[in-house]
Order: sequence, then C-alpha cells, then structure tokens
Amino acid sequence: MTKPDILMPYRLLPIAEEELAKRFTVHKLHEAEDRQALLAEVGPKVRGVALGFGPFNQALLDQLPNLEIVAGFGVGYDHINVPACLAAKVMVTHTPDVLNEEVADTAIGLMIMAIRELGQAEQWVRDGHWAAKKPYPTTAATLRGRTLGIFGLGRIGKAIAKRAEAFGLDVHYHGRTKQNGVTYPYHATLTGLAEACDTLMVVAPGGPSTHHAVNAGVLEALGPDGVVINVGRGSVIDEAALIKALEDGTIYGAGLDVFEDEPNVPEALLALPKVTVLPHVGSASQATRNAMAMLVANNIRSWFETGAAITPVPEMGA
Ligand code: NDP
Repeated sequence: MTKPDILMPYRLLPIAEEELAKRFTVHKLHEAEDRQALLAEVGPKVRGVALGFGPFNQALLDQLPNLEIVAGFGVGYDHINVPACLAAKVMVTHTPDVLNEEVADTAIGLMIMAIRELGQAEQWVRDGHWAAKKPYPTTAATLRGRTLGIFGLGRIGKAIAKRAEAFGLDVHYHGRTKQNGVTYPYHATLTGLAEACDTLMVVAPGGPSTHHAVNAGVLEALGPDGVVINVGRGSVIDEAALIKALEDGTIYGAGLDVFEDEPNVPEALLALPKVTVLPHVGSASQATRNAMAMLVANNIRSWFETGAAITPVPEMGA
C-alpha cells in the first residue's frame, strides 16, 4: 500500500518527524533548496500538512489541491487560515490540554518575577552589587492581597486560577460567556474585570475578536498598582498603549511572554524598570513540546487510519 504524502513546511521536533516517517512519505519543505520547485512537484500529491513553528496561509493552501488535514503545533491557531481551510473542506487540528500545566507554571512564575522583581534581583547578584554590600532594594509591589483577573478562563486559565488560589489570591474572570459551575466572580466586560482587580492575567487567544482588547481604557481601569501579565497572544494587548501606561504610571508593571511582533521586543519596553520579559517560553520544556509534537503526528495518523482527527479546532464542529 502506498503511504500518504505529508508536507512539513517547517521544522518539527525529531520525535514527531520520526513517528510520521514510519507511516507517511514526508516532504520536508524546510530543507528544500528550491521550495517552489518542490511544491510544484509534490503539491498535487500532498494529503496532509504537519505544521511546526510557522503559519499556514491561503497561498500555501492553493498549492495543495488534494489536501485533507492541517495538523497545527500549539493550542493557539491564529497562524492558520481556518476560514480558508473550512472553505476548502480541510480539517484543522491543534494541540490543546497537553500544555496546560506547563503554561500555567510559566504564568505564575512570570507573575511573581514581575511583581517581586526576581529577574532584576538576580541581575543584582550577577553584577556584583550584593557582594559590594548593597542589598537589593525592597520591592514596592507584593503579591500579598492581590486580586487576579483572568482574561480567558479556559483550559490554561483554569490551571492558573487553581495555582493562584493556592497562593491566596482572589480570582475573577472575563470571557464572552459566564461559565456554569465556576464560582469565581464573572465580569461581562474586560474593563469591568480590570476595575475589580489589580493584576490582569491575559490568557485569551489571538485573532480578530481579541485584537487590542487590552487597550488604554482597560489599563486605566486597572490602576496605578496594576500589573499586566500576558501568556496569551501579543496581539491581545495594544503594546503602544501598554508602553505609555507604564511610562506615565497609569499602571505599575508588566510580565510578558508574548509580543505583537515576535521576536522583536520594542526598545521602549525593555527600557522600563518594572517590566519582565520572556521569549515566548510558556510551553517550552522538552517534555511538553514533545507531547505537543506527538499530538501533531497522532492527529495525522488518526485521520488517515480512522477518518477522524483527535483534536480538531472548535470551528470544525463536533
Ligand atoms: P481555551 O480555548 O481553553 O480558552 C480560551 C478562553 O478565552 C476561553 O475561556 C474563552 O472564553 C476566552 N475567549 C476566547 N475568545 C474570547 C473573546 N473574543 N473575548 C473574551 N474571551 C474570549 O484556550 P487555552 O486555555 O487552551 O489557550 C489559551 C491561549 O493561550 C491560546 O489560544 C494561546 O494563544 C495561548 N497560549 C500561549 C502559550 C505560550 O507559550 N505563551 C502556550 C499555549 C497557549 P469564552 O469562550 O467564554 O469567551
């Protein structure tokens, strides 16, 4: 029996590349010297795409007339043109759940770093100031007594909330709908959430519906003790408004794992003293990234063995 042809436009982790190679004829576009020539040659045969770190757009879709499935790497899928795939009757999958706890750990770590200036304090030791008998200044901010507003109380948001409760924080949330069985106070608007809390945890997805949802008005509502943490998507925060709010004291600080134009982080943001930045490492342990990569491979395997994907994106329907 001939093996179905799979296209790999970008590098995927070795564990998933090896898994796919057992059952499929894999075409590695990322290793091709002439991408266009390879696409022209294999495009019509390709039935599946195993996505790594990169987008899937209409231009690529147009070159794959017999495509059946795009298996995305990551739970967020704003880098995949889902409407175009729906129109072409192409299944789209993502990798939910396997990364919840890892990303929640990162979110809590980032929150504590931002509020207690742990990154700056470590730099103090490395720069020799402590040895020179200068203690690191006490931090103006503390986690004690804070109220955490979670924007996006989904799979990861709930894992963050559980941890925050253990830290003694009050938890509130905002999403488009009030969730049955959730006892945290619900706010129908993001501004309402910001008014009720002093620490805003952004873990909502990217895309048009959340673009710049955290704007100047929301930051104003958060107030001068306010700290914004973003482990969702950079596009959810109006970065220029955030920089201005930090510069003029509208809010206190920020901890950011994601940015509007990754990997570019604005100099103005880096120049601010109460800002902690991470290079989009929310899920980035080897164990979790391997689990995500295996789910990419298993979605493709399941599709061709059973006709059903394991974790379709919600737009695909039940
Ligand atoms: P879920 O779909 O489980 O949760 C998303 C939550 O956001 C839901 O509670 C949803 O509630 C809310 N939401 C969605 N759209 C809107 C909107 N337009 N307005 C208000 N609320 C909205 O996703 P996950 O928890 O699995 O993942 C969340 C996001 O985290 C991912 O999409 C990804 O962008 C990001 N992420 C970042 C990582 C990193 O490395 N930093 C790693 C993994 C994920 P409702 O439907 O009620 O609106």
